[in-house]
Amino acid sequence: MSEQALRDVVIIGSGPAAWTAAIYSARAGLNPLVFEGEPQGTEIPGGQLMLTTEIENYPGFPDSITGPDLMDRMKAQALHYQLEVRSELVSSIDTNVHPFVLTSSYSPPVGALTVIVATGAKAKWMGLPNEMRLAMNGGGVSACAVCDGALMVYRNKVLAVVGGGDTAMEEALYLTKFASEVVIIHRRDKFRASKVMADRVLGHPKVRVKWNTRVTDVHGDSEITGLSLEDTVTGAGSTLEVGGLFVAIGHEPNTKFLGGQLDLTGHGYIKVEPWRTETSVPGIFAAGDVIDDYYRQAVTSAGTGCMAALEAERWLAHHGIGESPILETAEGPVAASPDQIDDPPGDSADEPSGVMA
Ligand code: NAP
Repeated sequence: MSEQALRDVVIIGSGPAAWTAAIYSARAGLNPLVFEGEPQGTEIPGGQLMLTTEIENYPGFPDSITGPDLMDRMKAQALHYQLEVRSELVSSIDTNVHPFVLTSSYSPPVGALTVIVATGAKAKWMGLPNEMRLAMNGGGVSACAVCDGALMVYRNKVLAVVGGGDTAMEEALYLTKFASEVVIIHRRDKFRASKVMADRVLGHPKVRVKWNTRVTDVHGDSEITGLSLEDTVTGAGSTLEVGGLFVAIGHEPNTKFLGGQLDLTGHGYIKVEPWRTETSVPGIFAAGDVIDDYYRQAVTSAGTGCMAALEAERWLAHHGIGESPILETAEGPVAASPDQIDDPPGDSADEPSGVMA
């Protein structure tokens, strides 16, 4: 492995958390390497915001901004500073050695003193062709009510929510503020959601539930007009006119490539210390939706991306590279002691340790 292959900070991801981490660590002079991923099916670099249209709740854009535009701007801002971006997927990280070794699609393996995992999560979709088409062109299909529900296009319309878990309950309640009616479509006769959430929804005058029902098609050319439905017990078909569809059938964090080397939560998200981004492996930090099954917002992802970069910078400083940022007085865990590094790096960020050479 060449000396060039040893990096102080490697960032994996290309959503708000990744680009924010890149901006912070590049401005700190750590010359990060960003693996931004590459297109794979419906997944494209940039993360979930690439599938949204107008974003009205990201501060600083009073006239709103589209998801892809916001991601372009974040990347462009990061590129103002010294960093390298590779359009490749990371297929594995070896955390049993330090520096960690990352294997990616095309390049030779890369060694990293610290890694920031910001690979996000993907919303689950029903897998209907028209569902994806209308989701990708802003035609009234969305996987995030809090992100999109307040848009004018959804005002005073009948809005459908698919799912029976807590997310579906939350989305349905949120949408009652804007919709004329919210119809929850659930494939069984009982919600999976917690009783308190389910009761709140069932008691709401604007909410109606279609039990034992699944969506079989989404209608509309440029905008959604309705749904084809099927009774999951009798098989009977029906249609429903709607002005919006919110798919709330769960999320899947992108952690498979980690091969179980980092501790995960019960829902499969990377486990981090409370109000920190350090993971179960010292030197590896995680940020954005891959650690968050609760807020799932662009602005919270960006916030944790900042935290991860500052923590990585601090971790490196504790191991003799660069200066620690502002976090010295903060009460909190120090990720590792110097003797946890197999082969301590040189004094300067420009001097790679011999291990990876
Ligand atoms: P979830 O609990 O897994 O629920 C997913 C729902 O979608 C289920 O009702 C499931 O139906 C349905 N579903 C799955 N695949 C489907 C498909 N292909 N077609 C139609 N329906 C489908 O996911 P979640 O609601 O996102 O919640 C995830 C976790 O986060 C949960 O533990 C939840 O409690 C937690 N959470 C908590 C809060 C809160 O406390 N405020 C808010 C949101 C989420 P079945 O029921 O038939 O399987």
